[in-house]
Amino acid sequence: MTTRAAELVATAASAADFPRAGLPEIAFLGRSNAGKSSLLNRLAGRRELARVSATPGKTRLIHFYEVARGARRLLLVDLPGYGWARVSKAERARWRKLVEGYLDGRAALRGAVLLLDLRRDISADERDLLAWLAERGVPALVALTKCDKLAPMRRAERARALAAAFELARERVIATSAQTKLGIDELWKAIAALAG
Ligand code: GDP
Repeated sequence: MTTRAAELVATAASAADFPRAGLPEIAFLGRSNAGKSSLLNRLAGRRELARVSATPGKTRLIHFYEVARGARRLLLVDLPGYGWARVSKAERARWRKLVEGYLDGRAALRGAVLLLDLRRDISADERDLLAWLAERGVPALVALTKCDKLAPMRRAERARALAAAFELARERVIATSAQTKLGIDELWKAIAALAG
């Protein structure tokens, strides 16, 4: 099935800029450099929907992209990347306010996708984020990114180990590669199931 349309409908620096809730929304979260822009571009079937950056983590904005696939329309919500090595406490607090302001109580939100470079171990941030989502009843998927970097056997091992570490059902952890398109259809199906 082909993705027919992808359009940036809103960019938000604060809750005042969020668009009026309408279509089902799926949030995308990940550390800077996890491969979020690349994966969003693949999901949307576009090259340049979200910018793939060489200098990660500069912007602190939420982007809302409307996509249509078959008869289904939904919003992919690109939350700003996190990763604190080089940011100040004040900047970190601003990120939290923006992201939690969106995730906590957004009526149209149907689920979240946490992106994780499959070669990296999970951090306390990622564990906390999944626990935080679970407490609020937001269903989560984990998309393992850049899976082309590992051989298939190692990929499957990592996916199993990470599902266990996150205490997630195995089918909630999806191996993907924006480069080879591995797992893109599977991720779409899982997202569509969350969107209802
Ligand atoms: P973001 O900061 O999370 O939006 O990540 P980007 O999409 O900008 O990607 C970060 C880096 O990882 C870039 O150098 C990308 O080319 C690279 N990258 C992203 N996806 C893949 C993938 O599927 N395979 C490989 N090998 N590299 C990837």
